[in-house]
Amino acid sequence: MSIQLKNLKKNYNDFTAVNNINLEFQDKKLSVLIGPSGCGKTTILKMLNRLIERTSGDIIIDGKSIDNINTIDLRRSMGYVIQEIGLFPHMTVFDNIAVVPRLLKWDEAKIKNRVYELLDMVNLDPSINAKKYPAQLSGGQRQRVGVARGLAADPNILLMDEPFGAIDPINRETLQDGFLEIQEKIQKTIVFVTHDIREAIKLGDRIVILNQGKVEQEGSTLEVVKNP
Ligand code: ADP
Ligand code: ADP
Repeated sequence: MSIQLKNLKKNYNDFTAVNNINLEFQDKKLSVLIGPSGCGKTTILKMLNRLIERTSGDIIIDGKSIDNINTIDLRRSMGYVIQEIGLFPHMTVFDNIAVVPRLLKWDEAKIKNRVYELLDMVNLDPSINAKKYPAQLSGGQRQRVGVARGLAADPNILLMDEPFGAIDPINRETLQDGFLEIQEKIQKTIVFVTHDIREAIKLGDRIVILNQGKVEQEGSTLEVVKNP
């Protein structure tokens, strides 16, 4: 699925956090949004799944304005992976991953197959990890469960907000490598927020550099790295 932002703007009272942005996130590509803290990255992600409403402009998903897409269908088509706080501490790994499929009323046999398949995909042995609680896992393992949960209902689009930001540098490398392999298999349209330029170069097909709510530069990772 492709996503187009047209003159997209978000004001918080009289502060403009996103200032008339025009962008396309291409089908099956991983687009990185990078820029300093406060430049509007998270605000853009949250407008995509309508956790917040835009002030003006439009968001077009596969040719259709977001206004003409039912919010439940919209959220169903998008997985959302965030830093740290994503998992419910009182629920097992299995139940955390099963949240969205259960909302969608999949039958339990199908859910079990899916949860086990996803745990394998993120390199966590299901027979060991499905019954654990988040506190019994390392930070890196929790983040992998977060990725599995984001993918649970097979969304077309994955929104990722600094998913590896809270992980120490060595384990972060491992997670990035694992995630690259996963993306090769699943080929989702991904919008990935980070403020780590090395992560952006490693993971991104395309890079968007934001500053104070505006696009400073946009292009393939190679173009952006060659013309910093
Ligand atoms: P980033 O993700 O790039 O760090 P954000 O999108 O979170 O940036 O925030 C962009 C700007 O908007 C920041 O200056 C932030 O302080 C401001 N902002 C974010 N959310 C709100 C809010 N609910 N009310 C007022 N200002 C906000
Ligand atoms: P990762 O590469 O997933 O970040 P770590 O290197 O941090 O993993 O942890 C290595 C091992 O230590 C993991 O297999 C995990 O089972 C175990 N471990 C880490 N933290 C905890 C914890 N708080 N409780 C139980 N086991 C833990």
